Amino acid sequence: RLPDGQTKGAQGDTALWHPFADMHAVRRDEFIVDRADDVWVYDTEGRRYLDATASLWYCNIGHGRREIAEAVAAQLTRLEAYSVFGDYSNTPARELAHRLAGYAPMADAKVFLTSGGGDSVDTAVKIALTYWRHQGRPERTHVISRVGSYHGMHGIGTGLGGIDANRNGFDGVFPTASRVANNDAAALRAEIERLGADRVAAFIAEPVIGAGGVVPPAPGYLEAVAGICEQYGVLFVADAVICGFGRLGTWYGVERWGLRPDMITFAKGVTSGYLPLGGVVASGDVAAPFWDEPGRPFRHGQTYAGHATCAAAAMANLDIMEAENLLDRALKLETELHTALLELTGHDAVTEVRGGIGVLSAVEIHPDVLARDPGVLGKLHLAARRRGVLIRPLITSLAISPPLTISSEYFAHITEVIADALDEVTVP
Ligand code: PLP
Repeated sequence: RLPDGQTKGAQGDTALWHPFADMHAVRRDEFIVDRADDVWVYDTEGRRYLDATASLWYCNIGHGRREIAEAVAAQLTRLEAYSVFGDYSNTPARELAHRLAGYAPMADAKVFLTSGGGDSVDTAVKIALTYWRHQGRPERTHVISRVGSYHGMHGIGTGLGGIDANRNGFDGVFPTASRVANNDAAALRAEIERLGADRVAAFIAEPVIGAGGVVPPAPGYLEAVAGICEQYGVLFVADAVICGFGRLGTWYGVERWGLRPDMITFAKGVTSGYLPLGGVVASGDVAAPFWDEPGRPFRHGQTYAGHATCAAAAMANLDIMEAENLLDRALKLETELHTALLELTGHDAVTEVRGGIGVLSAVEIHPDVLARDPGVLGKLHLAARRRGVLIRPLITSLAISPPLTISSEYFAHITEVIADALDEVTVP
């Protein structure tokens, strides 16, 4: 029995608890997305918005593609799912793993499938630690990440993350983690030396930092840290959850710098978000102790690993990317998007526009403007939305990462809407 005065079940307008949101505000003012078509999103009143963020950086092929719906329907009616577990497998998962290994810049790559990015980061770190145990180096448990990085909100990813607010109160969840400054290869070397290389399992980095504010690497930085990892025998994990599947104009983003990581984590664009799926690509060397030695199961996995219908959605998504040359298209769009947004550097409230590597950019807001009104990013986001363009407030900036199907004609419009929003919100 409930205490007097309480009634069972949902109360008020909504029971849906939004991730990362201040529900005190959201419960009064919720933006309900009703349908979407290519780069357009419609609310429940039928108003149309340009999706300049590809939802949460994932809808690379655009919304509402029938080819995916048909592939998913066909798979659902044949075999919706049967877990990849023990010796059980299914054809879409096998085909997808083969294809993803084929795209990877490592030799003899193997693919561990998961349900998303956070799953994949935790999986990669557990592979790294287990790999070192199998090498007779169980003391290699420390993982280094970067200030400003984002690696998802699972346990290990939370502990590694470089956005302080996300780690607040959870610093102990993955105690063998530390962070080094971004774009400072010497800082990584110093941290490895401080810890002792024989205690460091891996270094994890997003090729272009995404959620931390869209921060492309300084020239030479990624090549330098990859070299340092190799020198000290530290596994290099590229977190390509945002950067993969065309966002940087290549399959895994890392190809832009000729990198050959030991592992790559992916999610998002692999299905363009039509169904949840992620995974880890491991080099043949990292996989070898598990694959080539008897009696070494990797005691880790999730119920939906290799979900047949999610894998079918991924295959149909990759078919579209190949048929429509979306990777090459992204390389053209990245310059056009960056060039258009650079106009905003003329605005008093803008200190810089970051981007130019990949179809993702950020407009950095002046620190005085942020100090005057800590809510200014939210207001800018709403002001742009009222003008029919969806952008993302991101720490101290506004992020833009549209579907790769967008026509570059819209870049001037996005820029104009941001300029108008800046005028409305920041000019006294
Ligand atoms: N890693 C990176 C680089 C990400 O950007 C994200 C999500 O944005 C994640 C991991 C976590 O992915 P998910 O939200 O699918 O768990």
